[in-house]
Amino acid sequence: MNAPVQKTDAQWQAILHAKGAEPMALQVTRHAATERPFTGKYQAHWADGSYHCICCGAKLFDSDSKFDAGCGWPSFCQAIPGAITRIADRSHGMLRTETVCAQCGAHLGHVFDDGPAPGGLRYCMNSAALDFESGKA
Ligand SMILES: [Zn+2]
Repeated sequence: MNAPVQKTDAQWQAILHAKGAEPMALQVTRHAATERPFTGKYQAHWADGSYHCICCGAKLFDSDSKFDAGCGWPSFCQAIPGAITRIADRSHGMLRTETVCAQCGAHLGHVFDDGPAPGGLRYCMNSAALDFESGKA
C-alpha cells in the first residue's frame, strides 16, 4: 500500500524506541506480527481517551468504541472515519480483513463482522500498535 508516510524499519524503530513502545511494536506494525492474547497493555484498559497509531500518531479509535470481546486483544466496534485502510489477507489459510493505518500503513490487526449491534464490527487490534492518550474526547 502507498501510505502518505513512508519510512524505513530503522527510522520506525528509532521513533518507536523514543516513544517507549512495546518491544513487539516494530514486528507488529511493520511485519504484521500478532502479539499473544491477554498480554497486551490495552486489552483490559478502560480509561476515557483515544487510541492512536503508535508509529505516526494518527487517531484511530475513541475509548467509547472499545468493548470487551473476550478474545484477549483490545477490541473496538467503530474506527475514526478514514483512519483505517482494509486489505484482504489470505495468510494462514484463512480469508481475513487486515487493518492498517491509513496514514503510515502500520499493521494494526484485523476486522471481523461478529461485533456488537448496530455496526456489527469487531476491530481486533494489537496493543503494541496503539498509543493511548487520556482525556475525554
Ligand atoms: Zn500510522
